[in-house]
Amino acid sequence: MASSADRDAFEVCGRCGEPLAGTDWYPATTYVGADGAILVLSFCDEHCLAAWDDSA
Ligand SMILES: [Zn+2]
Repeated sequence: MASSADRDAFEVCGRCGEPLAGTDWYPATTYVGADGAILVLSFCDEHCLAAWDDSA
């Protein structure tokens, strides 16, 4: 169930800012934002995901 807010989360890599093509699958993770909401971050590849995990 994709809302426009969900789609926004997939537009760029959560680490390096690389634009992501909305139709492809990318590695993603969730985290709790400052307001307690569950947020989704997508990454251009698994290396960016791993690097983000390491720095989180
Ligand atoms: Zn990236």
